Formats: sequence, C-alpha cells, structure tokens
Amino acid sequence: VRRNPGEAEFHQAVHEVLDSVAPALVKHPEYAEAKIIERICEPERQIIFRVPWEDDRGEVHINRGFRVEFNSALGPYKGGLRFHQSVYLGIVKFLGFEQVFKNALTGMPIGGGKGGSDFDPKGRSDREVMRFCQSFMTELYRHIGEYTDMPAGDIGVGGREIGYLFGQYKRITNRYESGVLTGKGLTYGGAQVRREATGYGAVFFADEMLRAVGDSFDGKRVVVSGSGNVAIYAIEKVHQLGGTVVACSDSSGYVRDDKGIDVELLKELKEVRRARIDAYLTHRPHASFVADRTVWEVPCQVAVPCATQNEIAASDAAALIKGGCAIVVEGANMPTSPEAIRAFAAAGVRFAPGKAANAGGVAASALEMQQNASRDSWTFAYSEQRLREIMRDIHARCHATAEEYGMPGNYAAGANIDGFRRVAEAMLAHGLI
Ligand code: NDP
Repeated sequence: VRRNPGEAEFHQAVHEVLDSVAPALVKHPEYAEAKIIERICEPERQIIFRVPWEDDRGEVHINRGFRVEFNSALGPYKGGLRFHQSVYLGIVKFLGFEQVFKNALTGMPIGGGKGGSDFDPKGRSDREVMRFCQSFMTELYRHIGEYTDMPAGDIGVGGREIGYLFGQYKRITNRYESGVLTGKGLTYGGAQVRREATGYGAVFFADEMLRAVGDSFDGKRVVVSGSGNVAIYAIEKVHQLGGTVVACSDSSGYVRDDKGIDVELLKELKEVRRARIDAYLTHRPHASFVADRTVWEVPCQVAVPCATQNEIAASDAAALIKGGCAIVVEGANMPTSPEAIRAFAAAGVRFAPGKAANAGGVAASALEMQQNASRDSWTFAYSEQRLREIMRDIHARCHATAEEYGMPGNYAAGANIDGFRRVAEAMLAHGLI
C-alpha cells in the first residue's frame, strides 16, 4: 500500500490473489526464495502520456493515456484498452495484474498488460472519437507491436475505436501489422467470434459449472448487468442454451423484461444507435425501467455481472441471495466486492471469478493473432467450437486445482493458484529479471 498509494482497486486485486495463493507458496518454497510475490506485483513497465485532441467546436482537450506492461513471462503483453472517465493508474494496474493470471489460465503464450485513458467516448461524435484515437495512438505506437505488446478493447473501446487506432498505427509505422491489435473488424483482419467471445465464454463457463452438478441452463432465470459488448453476447448465449435473461442495465438503471430481453433490439440500441437503456421500452412497452438502482434486486437463479468493478456490493449480494441466486459468474473484471464474495461463500452460492470466466475474450484474441500470423481465417462454427473447448479446459483446471489444494468447488482459489503457478514457473526459469 505504501509503494502504490491511493490505488484502491489495485490493492484489492492483489489482496484477492495473494490470499488464495498462500497454500501454493507453502508447497513451493522456491517461489519465496526468488521473491516471486514481490516481483509479480511490480509491473515490468508503466507508461503514462499526454493525449491532446480537438472537439468538433474547436475546443482543445487534454486527456491522460496509460499502458501498463505488467508481466511478459509467458509471452508478449496482451490486454485491452479502457476509455472511461474513471480510468487512472490504479484501475489500469488492477486490470493488468488480473490479466497476467487470466492469460496464464488460457494456456496460451501471452503475458499480461492493460491500458486506456480517462477519455469518455459517450456523447462524442465519430469524428471526435477518431481524433482522440489518432492522438492516443501517436504516442502508443512506439511501445506496442506484434512481438511486444498487443492491445484490444475493453469498456468504451469497441469495433469503432479499434478501427481508428489500427488505422493510425498503420499510417505511422507503414506496416500492415494485423496482430498488433485484436478485436478488429472482419473486413480488415478481424476474427470470427472475437466480438462474442467474452460473453459467450462466460456463459460456457457457467454451463460447465451447471453440468458439474448435473444441471443445465434450461428454464433458468438469469440476470445480466451492463448492456455493452460482454453483456449483449452473454444474453445471446444464455438464450441459445435455453435460459431466459429477464433484466440488464447500463449506468442509468436497468430494464426488466420477464418475457426475456430482446437481444436484437439491444444490439440495435447499443451498437448502432448508442442509446440509453430506457429506449428499450419504446419498442417493448410491457417491459419496465428502473432508474438509478442496480439490477441485482431482480430475482434470478444465475447472475452474470458484465458491467464494471465492484458493481455487486454487500447489499446487492444480500438481494441476490434472497432472490434465490445459486450461481454468480463474473463476465466483468472484479465486479464482486470482497464483502459480497464472502456473503456468497457463507450462503453456498457458487462463484466463478472473472479471470477464469471472462478469459474467453483474450483467448479469442490469441486465436485472432494466430489467424493473422498464418494469413488464415476460420469459420464462425469452428471458432466457436475452439472457444467452447478453451472454456471447458479452464473450468476443468480451476476445478481440479481447487480439489488438489483441499478446497473443492472454490473456483476463485483454483483460478488464482493455477494462474499463479504457471507464471511463477516461467519467471523462475528466466532467472532474476
Ligand atoms: P462496454 O463499454 O461495451 O460496456 C460496459 C457496460 O457496463 C455498459 O452498459 C456500461 O453502461 C456499463 N457500465 C460501465 N461502467 C459502469 C458503471 N460505473 N456503473 C454502471 N454501469 C457501468 O464494455 P465491455 O462490455 O467490453 O466490458 C465490460 C466488463 O467486462 C469490464 O469489466 C471489462 O473489463 C470486462 N471484460 C471485457 C472484455 C472484452 O472483451 N470486451 C474481456 C474481458 C473482460 P454505460 O454505457 O451507461 O456506461
């Protein structure tokens, strides 16, 4: 805390991992000897830069850009960019730290990093977003590359932003280096199922948890928070697997539709029109909108938080438990507060942490890089099948590791220990660097 003052989210993420890897440190005294913990908590490199840009009225704005290259023991840095007014170093470091273990869990050769800016694209015109992205990339380009660091999207960075960022990278470097950014459009090197992968992957993970106890999504009532990239495709996959998502949200409140959220309508509102969630009611008058409250008060059997960090407070956890929720699967990064995690454990609610459950996004990014490198593009069906297998493997590994360490069913411990071990072993092999 003294070394990283004022970075509450980073402290929270580190505590959460260190608490659960203690048994692995007992089993492996060589980790402590090599000071793996101290090294793993210190990013390899942190870059902070000025991003000046001009809005449509000619007014000049100055934002702050970040890229934290956290750990490259397993491969080049990989992790998204977040554009949101709340972004500061502590958020980027928490996300980068989580990313290291998440990427390890995928079993793919990728290290962890994260970046972004305190720029808020909401309400900005396409031209303003383009000018911001061009300015951001004018500094970022010198730090990234196919063999160094490959960013992708996160909150506020979707297909439009990746397109502008990629265009500027190509223009400055004079290299059509497809692998430098993932989440690209399908017309210029993007991969099938990347857009869907985080949401689909989280639901595949939940499906594995249900299958592990002989259950399925069939007939389940599900609540998903958010209505962005992760949320939309989580909802789509729940419906394909026979469940019904009865509510979703954005930062203004939530909509409840007991007949099931209309995903095509949600895509039109959020991806095309960039509207607020209450616009849903204009097309589905039987639904209801509740302003300024969290979606967790809607009773459900499965909850999939897909918005942002710490969106499930202790009071939300109490509401979920009261409403009969038996499974919480994190589509977002660290959406469940530590108090809520404890409440779920006490109530016997099964819990899957984001670093395992939302790893489908980065895994599909690694598949996009693989296709770019071989100048190939796979079909939707094949890509989805690969994603499904990856999520099944991650689930199996978390499950088995939790059992190995005497904590059966504790997916958080399983994910942290397995991810940590993989990174620690590679760091040991590389020597003191
Ligand atoms: P988007 O920007 O597409 O969507 C975010 C959604 O969450 C929006 O509906 C947004 O509402 C809502 N939201 C954001 N901040 C808040 C807040 N402070 N309070 C309430 N609602 C909020 O982002 P993504 O879907 O890409 O990301 C969502 C989560 O998933 C993040 O935690 C991200 O780190 C994680 N994730 C994303 C991956 C990806 O592939 N995109 C991969 C792995 C994890 P509004 O528009 O009103 O702000």
